[in-house]
Amino acid sequence: MTRPLGPTLAQARSRSTAIRRALLAWFRKNARVLPWRTDPRDPWAVWVSEVMLQQTRVTTVVPYFHAFMLRYPDVKALASAELDEVLGAWSGLGYYRRARALHAGARDVVDRFEATIPSTIDELLSLPGVGDYTSAAIGSIAFGLRAAVVDGNVRRVIARLFALRSQQEASSVDLHKQIAQTLLPARAPGTFNEAMMELGALVCTPGQPRCEACPVRASCDARRLGLQDSIPAPLKRDASPVVRLIAAVVSRGDAVLMGKRDRDGLFGGMWDPPVFEQPIDPTWRRWLTKLRASPGRLPAAIASVRHVLTHRVLEVDVLCIEARGDANPQEGAVPPGYQALRWMTAGDMRRCGTSSLARRVLQAAGLK
Ligand code: SF4
Repeated sequence: MTRPLGPTLAQARSRSTAIRRALLAWFRKNARVLPWRTDPRDPWAVWVSEVMLQQTRVTTVVPYFHAFMLRYPDVKALASAELDEVLGAWSGLGYYRRARALHAGARDVVDRFEATIPSTIDELLSLPGVGDYTSAAIGSIAFGLRAAVVDGNVRRVIARLFALRSQQEASSVDLHKQIAQTLLPARAPGTFNEAMMELGALVCTPGQPRCEACPVRASCDARRLGLQDSIPAPLKRDASPVVRLIAAVVSRGDAVLMGKRDRDGLFGGMWDPPVFEQPIDPTWRRWLTKLRASPGRLPAAIASVRHVLTHRVLEVDVLCIEARGDANPQEGAVPPGYQALRWMTAGDMRRCGTSSLARRVLQAAGLK
């Protein structure tokens, strides 16, 4: 059963002083040293880090963040770069939509805000790819705006602090946002937001929360009720559909045929060995057959790669094809889902954005 919102917000208000004090004191002593936590915070570094951290672990992000900031130290540097080059710098981090949105956002800041990252929530929200979460993170952490940041970590902490047990309560983003906003202090709201996220990452973790080390344990309903291990209730998820594909690794000397994905589809704008749905359409089967150095049927797959995405699982059979010396696949149409084809050496691939699936397929083909 869902409780009325009013009493929960009243509880949040009444406990807010104790929670703020304890959490901020803990954060001062326990905050991890991270490259984007400069003093004072740099809006560009906050923006880049928050985008990189979406669905990606801190330890994975840190080396990418260093390399990215070295290459694009400010918004102007990213805005003047070509998208292909930016996707190259993002290669391996996954969720390339984020890189495209960051690039578009940087160009918008240069065009509309004279290369200065805006400092109001409305202006931040007007940038491409910047939604509630990112605008609140940049606004509060870099500019001191009182906007609550509500990510998965914060939602888990809130669900436990107020023992939000029902499925409805657990899945209500609005409820979590209102509670988070109620807890947020007027002074140093960005530090409080960082502290909430840090608590969720280090102490109030998904598996077994470390309540004995938690600074806000005295204010926590889940701990008081012994429910810390069962809140939030696991969300029921349908099994991800499995999509069966074939990746054609066509090589000619030291080059491999790579396709550039359509901008708006899966792996948009990235390069990979052309991938086809199974069973492969006869037109594209003939196209691949014509590229072969030796005539005859297409060879059998040499390996299969299982690639798990957020909402589907790709089962990709890997075909290796030795191409004729004069094979020119760029003549005529490109396979569905692609906008261009090019022969690429390993060096070319390093300079372009290749998806993590592409790297796994090339590795399965013995090429990387
Ligand atoms: Fe999470 Fe336990 Fe702290 Fe409650 S006491 S916020 S459940 S770590």
